This record gives sequence, C-alpha cells and structure tokens, in this order.
Amino acid sequence: MPIHLSTAQPDFAERFAALLSMKREDAADVNDAVAAIIADVRDRGDAALVELTGRFDRLALTPETLAFSKEEIAAQTAQVSAEDRAALAMAASRIRAYHARQMPEDLSWTDPEGATLGWRWTPVSAAGLYVPGGQASYPSSVLMNAIPARVAGVERLVVCVPTPGGAVNPLVLLAAELAGVDEIYRIGGAQAIAAMAHGTETIRPVDKITGPGNAYVAAAKRQVFGRVGIDMIAGPSEVLIIAQGAQNPEWLALDLLAQAEHDADAQSILVTPDESLARAVVAEVERILPTLPRAEVAGASWRDYGTVIVTRDLDEAAALSDRLAPEHLELCVDDPEALAQKTRHAGAIFLGGWTPEAVGDYVSGPNHVLPTARSARFSSGLSVMDFLKRSTIARLSPEALGAIGPAAVRLAESEGLSAHGRSVSARLAVLNGGQG
Ligand code: NAD
Repeated sequence: MPIHLSTAQPDFAERFAALLSMKREDAADVNDAVAAIIADVRDRGDAALVELTGRFDRLALTPETLAFSKEEIAAQTAQVSAEDRAALAMAASRIRAYHARQMPEDLSWTDPEGATLGWRWTPVSAAGLYVPGGQASYPSSVLMNAIPARVAGVERLVVCVPTPGGAVNPLVLLAAELAGVDEIYRIGGAQAIAAMAHGTETIRPVDKITGPGNAYVAAAKRQVFGRVGIDMIAGPSEVLIIAQGAQNPEWLALDLLAQAEHDADAQSILVTPDESLARAVVAEVERILPTLPRAEVAGASWRDYGTVIVTRDLDEAAALSDRLAPEHLELCVDDPEALAQKTRHAGAIFLGGWTPEAVGDYVSGPNHVLPTARSARFSSGLSVMDFLKRSTIARLSPEALGAIGPAAVRLAESEGLSAHGRSVSARLAVLNGGQG
C-alpha cells in the first residue's frame, strides 16, 4: 500500500516532514573502489581500460577496438527498423528546435563614464557523454545530452557506453549519429569517466562530462569534478501529480506507474483535494500494476515510496508540491496555467491532462535530464547553458580610466597591493600630463 496522508490529520506536519527527509538512494560506499580505478586509468591509460572492461563488462578489447569503427556503426544502425528510425529522428528534431531557443545572447553597452562593458558566451571545446549500458540502454538520453551540446557549438563530442558481453543497442548508436557525436567508445563505469577526464593514448580528454549512470559512475563524476566540469548527480526519478475533479483516474494511474517502472527507488506522488479521485486512482494503479512487464520494479516503487496526499484545496496542494520540489510536476486540473503560477520549485512542469510526463521523456522537446531529490529548489535541468561559459568583457577609454581609476587605486592601497595600485596610477599620471 502506498503512503496515505491527509492534511486534516493531526500529525500531518510530522508525517510530511518524514516524507521530505525520506532517503531513496542506495548508500553503498563505492568511493574507494572508484578512486583506485581512476588512478589506474590515469597511470596506465589504455592498458587499464582494456583490463577493467574485461573484468567488469566481460569483454575482451584491445586499444584498437576501444572505439566503434565507422563500419561497425553503419552495420549496427542498418538493423534499426524504419519506424524506430522515424521516431528517433522526430525526437531529435524536436529536441534540437527546443534547445536552439535556449541560446543566450552576448551583450555590450557603454556606461556614462565611458567604459564599454558586457559579456559573451563560448562553448566548451569538447564534451563527454556517459550513456549507461549495464542493465538497460537509453537512446533518448543520448539525444537529451548530445543535442544541447551540439546546439551550444561544442566542437568535439565523445560518447562512452558499456557493452556488457559485447551486447550493443543499435538505437544508441543511431541516436549518437543523429545527434552528431564524433567518437563512441565501448567502455563504462568509473573507468570511462576517468578516461574522459584524464585522457589515455587513444582517448583525448574532454572539458565537461554529462550523463546519468549507476553509483560507480556518480562517484567517479564527483571525483573528477574540478579537472573537468560535470552536469549534476541525478538520483532516482520522481513525479508529483496535482489532480482535480473530472480527470481520468486510469490516465493518472498510468502516469504514476510510468515513473514507478523506472526504478524500485523511483517515487510517484498524487496530491488532490478530491478524496474520491484519490481512491479511484489508487484502485486503478492496483488494477494495472500486475499487467506491466516491469510489475516487480513498479510494484516495489509504489509499495515503498508511492504517496497519496489529500489536501483541503488546490492552493494547499501547490504549497506542498513546492516543499517537495519534484523533478516532474504534472498539473492535471481545470486551470493548469493558474496553478503553475502558484508553484516555483519543479524541474519540469506538465500542464493539463493531455500532457503526460512520458511524452516529455522522449519527444516534447524539453530536456529529460532533471534535478531530483528536492534539488529543483536550487538547480535546473540540463540545457544549452551547461555547455557554455560566459566571459566578461571591459574596454575603458582614457576618460573612463580617469573617472573610475582613482577609486581602484584607493581600494588597492587599502588591501596592501601596491603593484595593483601602481598599475592604475601609472596610467593616471600620463593622463594627468605626468610621466608614465
Ligand atoms: P552503468 O552503465 O551506469 O554501469 C555499468 C558499469 O558499472 C560497468 O561498466 C562497470 O564498469 C561498473 N560497475 C559495475 N559493478 C562494478 C563494481 N563492482 N566495481 C566497479 N565498477 C562496477 O549501467 P547500470 O548499472 O545499468 O546503471 C544505470 C543507472 O543509470 C541506473 O541507476 C538508472 O536508473 C540510471 N539512469 C538514470 C537516468 C536519469 O536521467 N536520471 C537515465 C537513465 C539511467
């Protein structure tokens, strides 16, 4: 049975606090193992990659076969059906169009003192995308990571995907091709992250690493951060649905289960002021659950973390949602725009009954790599901005230096930085007719 709360319960505040602090991630301590793997790849390069891939992915490689060749990619992608190819192409084109609109503009202005100021955006030179491949494979994640990088103007795009026992998903390779990936390596786990961060004889290092993965991948991304940039550490997925009145209970149940089937640690939450709708949705979940091929995973998630909260009204539902700051927020209510105005913290918002979260996983256009575990309070989903950096720009006329330079000299002196002060005052002296 899912957790059932009502804001009318006298102990609601405590029970809701328990929900907020619920930990869903496996706290396995993998840091030491990962540190050893990273050091090994840094010290021995390709030889370490070959050995670790043999050990963890049961695959015998040589430095020459670390990368997929053009011929292999062509042979694999030729197996993809026309229907799958069309669906992937549609997803790619919609994701590209959405992210193209995220490109920020450079700015420049001259202030009253005569200083021309501004900033400009430039892409990182090389990005590495980790594509998980241990237990399942994710062509949609390839598009969601690689397309924003390309739109940002990243020159070199690298993919690492483990192929346990040599098993390859052709759709992953096709997605990489559609997104314009330059190099694809069949390596995974901490060793792949280490190779992209430190480089080996075969793999040149990148500047930024993105993409999801298991605990080893997450720990490795944490450990290489600083040498390279990383996107975020995404945890188990979650959805919060606020629903009202005449919504279809079957649709709502399917949306809750779509999240639950991701992972036994995923969380699906329904918040509604309508007690009878809550009961109808729970009944639908119980009816549909046994019919799913992933019933075991979805059932474990729903049993352990599934939650239904009955509120006094929609305003109270919106306030609770904000405290949970869900990764995905579905507003299945009569006026979703008005309710959206009453929420601030959510990774992705889906308005109205005709916008299931699952469409956002693939083809609506926005990114599906999103902040989890309440981190939507302070962060955003993956975007073009993750592959850009901002350089500030200043150009001063002599008059501008004359106007603002003396304050810099005073401040430099107060900080005891004499060369700082003199680098400005030497110029001011020339301006004032003295010697440089
Ligand atoms: P993975 O590719 O992340 O991990 C496989 C690698 O783990 C192996 O290549 C191996 O190198 C390493 N590994 C396994 N056991 C090890 C050990 N004992 N010691 C050292 N290294 C070891 O694939 P996965 O395991 O299937 O995990 C994928 C994860 O990504 C799942 O948790 C899934 O939920 C998550 N995911 C998240 C999103 C998202 O957007 N948040 C999307 C897709 C997948």
